[in-house]
Amino acid sequence: MGKDLSRKKRNCWLEPEACNREETFNFCSEYIDFLSECKTERECVEYMQELAQENGFIPLESCKKEGRKLVRGDKVFLNLRDKALILFVIGREDMEKGINIIGSHIDSPRMDLKPSPLYEDQGIALFKTHYYGGIKKYQWTTIPMALHGVVFKSNGEKLEIAVGEDPDDTVFTITDLLPHLARQQMEKKAEEVISGEGLNFIAGTIPQEYDTDDKNSKGAKNAVLELLKDKYGLEEEDFISAELTAVPSGRARDVGLDRSLVGGYGQDDRVCAYVSFKAIMDIKDPEKTCAAIFADKEEVGSMGNTGMQSVLFENAVGELMELVTGSGEDLRLKRALSNSKALSSDVAAAVDPNYSDTHDKENAPRLGNGVTIEKYTGHKGKSGGSDANAEYMSQVRQVFNSENIVWQPGELGKVDLGGGGTIAQFLAYYGMDVLDCGVAVLNMHSPFELSSKADIYMTYKAFIAFYHKMK
Ligand code: MN
Ligand code: MN
Repeated sequence: MGKDLSRKKRNCWLEPEACNREETFNFCSEYIDFLSECKTERECVEYMQELAQENGFIPLESCKKEGRKLVRGDKVFLNLRDKALILFVIGREDMEKGINIIGSHIDSPRMDLKPSPLYEDQGIALFKTHYYGGIKKYQWTTIPMALHGVVFKSNGEKLEIAVGEDPDDTVFTITDLLPHLARQQMEKKAEEVISGEGLNFIAGTIPQEYDTDDKNSKGAKNAVLELLKDKYGLEEEDFISAELTAVPSGRARDVGLDRSLVGGYGQDDRVCAYVSFKAIMDIKDPEKTCAAIFADKEEVGSMGNTGMQSVLFENAVGELMELVTGSGEDLRLKRALSNSKALSSDVAAAVDPNYSDTHDKENAPRLGNGVTIEKYTGHKGKSGGSDANAEYMSQVRQVFNSENIVWQPGELGKVDLGGGGTIAQFLAYYGMDVLDCGVAVLNMHSPFELSSKADIYMTYKAFIAFYHKMK
């Protein structure tokens, strides 16, 4: 038999020079704190903006107001309606030659409260929800949930709410039928086992009175409204101007005897968001101007005024160019964008040993084998994805190899099984080179997603390399 000429598959855990184990575990213990504390896009923006400011980032808006010119090494941020965030580090080279962009999203699947959520049935007060993003509904019942979000009262006063995270807090839950009585339910297709309108979670059960006519207690809804009034000063109408969402309660944590994995809610895509945030915090005097985008609304198609289909990113780069070069006029902005290089930083689907038939094993990412690069996403014949050029693949590969980054190729799953997209296509719209690149996970979109600590740390190193070395 001849010499084995196959591409060498690498595993981070077996390459301590590329992936120092102590550094990996330390990095991920901070990540676990972030994941535990930031369960909505608003909470992510608040966390990142505060840390960015501590690290010398200043608001783009205040530079504009003061007419302050930005120079090499300056660090600025733009907050988009408290739900998305863009960070920039000004480089040495003219922006018109392009900037290096890493874009991730900070929204995750969840249960949003309906605009008029509170009702009572069978003496129990419940909240109605409309789920956000693609979920397997049956995974979201009978688990402890926390309520996060904001409410704007009738006078416009903003109230921030997070109930169900502290071990002493109360939690919420969506009920499911006992197996003894579930014969009909168990015969249904998984998609229909739990209905969308059945995703109501319990708000309270203490009644206000006993109705002697129909022999039922009632007033549980009223009692909940009374509690909301006493505790928060909330009226029922205030729900109309609220963004309240139920998310899995509790902290993210280590998984496995070897503690090699992180388990927790919202890793799609907060794992890539966290890693790119850490990377842009740590870059030093880059040649290219660097940008990190933390977008909202990816899970529902990037629609809306905080999603990547809006012009807000384009405007942000225009504003920045004006402060750096004195002119953010249209053609120069278009040149800057089309000359840019981007990583669409989103999670990939790792091979699951319980469902390994779902993947083409030659093209599926594995936990621990490093940062995943996906030439394309999409579904049914690559539809809806952004297919990176071979030329750009070559550049990224050279950058990663030159910095001893452990990387692996990835694809979403077997060709005919389904698929999905990322924000890559909305960046590619400007004509820039874009590649999907991120951390492979298991249990994607479930209340408890899994990622490998080695991949997380390696992706951080890959992003540092990208910011510094991509030409
Ligand atoms: Mn994602
Ligand atoms: Mn997703």
